[in-house]
Amino acid sequence: MNSPETLPTQRLRLADLRITNRFATLPGDFYTSLASTPLPSPYLVCASEGAAGLIGLDSEEFAHPEFIAAFSGNLTLPGSCPLAAVYSGHQFGVWAGQLGDGRAILLGETAAPADPMGTLELQLKGSGKTPYSRMGDGRAVLRSSIREFLCSEAMAALGIPTSRALCVIGSDMRVLREMPETAAVVTRMAQSFVRFGSFEHWFYKDRKTELQLLADYVIANSFPELQDEARPYHALLAEVSRRTANLVAQWQAAGFMHGVLNTDNMSILGLTLDYGPYGFMEGYDPAHICNHTDSHGRYSYRMQPRIAEWNCYALGQALLPLIGETDDVYDALSVFKPTFESSMQRLWQAKFGFSSTLEGDAKLIDRLFELMAVSRVDFPYFFRQLSSVTLSQTHKDDALRDLFIDLSGFDAWLSEYRQRLTLENSDDTLRKQAMDKVNPKYVLRNYLAQIAIDKAQNKDFSEVKNLLNILQRPFDEQPEHAQYAALPPDWASGIEVSCSS
Ligand code: AMP
Ligand code: MG
Repeated sequence: MNSPETLPTQRLRLADLRITNRFATLPGDFYTSLASTPLPSPYLVCASEGAAGLIGLDSEEFAHPEFIAAFSGNLTLPGSCPLAAVYSGHQFGVWAGQLGDGRAILLGETAAPADPMGTLELQLKGSGKTPYSRMGDGRAVLRSSIREFLCSEAMAALGIPTSRALCVIGSDMRVLREMPETAAVVTRMAQSFVRFGSFEHWFYKDRKTELQLLADYVIANSFPELQDEARPYHALLAEVSRRTANLVAQWQAAGFMHGVLNTDNMSILGLTLDYGPYGFMEGYDPAHICNHTDSHGRYSYRMQPRIAEWNCYALGQALLPLIGETDDVYDALSVFKPTFESSMQRLWQAKFGFSSTLEGDAKLIDRLFELMAVSRVDFPYFFRQLSSVTLSQTHKDDALRDLFIDLSGFDAWLSEYRQRLTLENSDDTLRKQAMDKVNPKYVLRNYLAQIAIDKAQNKDFSEVKNLLNILQRPFDEQPEHAQYAALPPDWASGIEVSCSS
């Protein structure tokens, strides 16, 4: 793999992008070839230079009518072979049967020199009806497209595996949700959009040949290192479980809640995929549910690790015909728990500024979370402030103390935390530097997204761009943007996000 620094900087014109579609080499039962439905009078809402850079695309192209036409689905790029893929899945723990790309069109893949696999697929979301649209209109609204765009790019900047977002193209075309909204198309990029549900689809249809074809396709294109394994399907399940466990640990550490962890939204590559009613933890509540539609809290913050593992079990079930023995499936899945636990431990360790994990750390961390839950302490704000704690008491402690109702409880905790820090001969400045690299100052709070959306709905896209720029450097101080790192205003707690998108 080339490191991005050693690569020649490519500045491709749109017309120079070479697109092919390897998914289209699978048998026709895996997808339906179809063009997107044109989007009337499209305009650019926002595009990501970082995402474009991954495929070598010059950001000067963003302003060109061809760019807007191509990524609104109005112009078919040469070499692309537009298709909607079929998949199935478990939704809220219940087998839902066939789903599929109901409003997404895969164009194909293009070279991505900086990506470990060397290619990225381009997919339009909101580009019209497909045979898998069921009751839906095949469209996505501007609101949810901006949310997906901003969060994809923000997650990438946080170092969390995710699909990327190249751009959002808007239109005045009306679409009806709870209220009338306008349509948009977001272009996503990932090395593959295959989901756990893509495998479940063939398993539940009892089609072992197709199941194996898909597994071989995924191994060849996304996990070539597993091809020489004695038990490649076992190795595939173990690797996906490992990646998923690492991913969910990173979500927990970032306070990220996906909101709809159905198996059809689970990336086979362990990427954050299908942004819907997601949210970042603000006032700490482990039972927090970010998806207003999830009345039982199946996908609440504290449930995510268990659900991610449950989803791996669903994948294991689907791969059983290829793996052969149930015990071998369990064996592959057994990777999940220890991976999650060690990953989580490493991530908390770094967030608290510990260089290693010592006995008693888990209890100290748990106690802090108990105190945070009682006072609903703001999660990102607290962790960013924590790095200002020094070995000797200073007035800087007040900024943290002020967040807690149980002051004596917090004081007791802080003094234990200080004692713990001394065990490592920890230098205040170095510790702060290390902590500020893992505790972001800027996260995509719902209310920040909402302000950008409200403006965009009035054709002012400046705040989307502004947020994108800020969130691309989440760990940097950016003093000129300090208000974006402040505690949220009171009205923010009233925002509700549902599955409607
Ligand atoms: P999601 O919960 O967004 O992952 O969507 C679940 C399924 O519903 C997927 O198969 C989507 O493609 C499909 N879907 C969601 N919204 C729409 C829509 N507006 N039109 C067509 N299909 C949709
Ligand atoms: Mg989905």
